[in-house]
Amino acid sequence: MSPKTVFKKIIDREIPAEIVYEDQECLAFKDINPQAPIHVIVIPKKEIPNLEELREEDEALIGHLFIAMQRIAQQMGISTGYRVVLNNGPDAGQEVMHMHFHLLAGRKFDWPPG
Ligand code: 5GP
Repeated sequence: MSPKTVFKKIIDREIPAEIVYEDQECLAFKDINPQAPIHVIVIPKKEIPNLEELREEDEALIGHLFIAMQRIAQQMGISTGYRVVLNNGPDAGQEVMHMHFHLLAGRKFDWPPG
């Protein structure tokens, strides 16, 4: 069995995190190295390494994550503007192999992204 990722350890409460939202399917917590005044990581509790490992059965879960992000944005008062990022695979800078969205807000974002 492969070792637990840091995000799985957060789900299992083996390491601490500043949790901002949780329900049966997902967990959201503040990024340890924030790239914006608000930087939240949103993860499914199900261990899916990245988009390449998504299966048809995960379709509803992905929709659920977006609804959760909408709720988190409302809860944090950033509904007027935020950026959602998914780094998929090493070439895109994915470091933690547990699929996750970055929810960023509180500053101006450039386009195209760096
Ligand atoms: P990735 O590069 O995989 O898309 O993003 C991983 C993110 O997880 C990074 O922004 C990094 O700062 C964050 N991160 C890594 N380890 C921890 C941790 O132990 N706790 C928290 N809260 N965030 C982490």
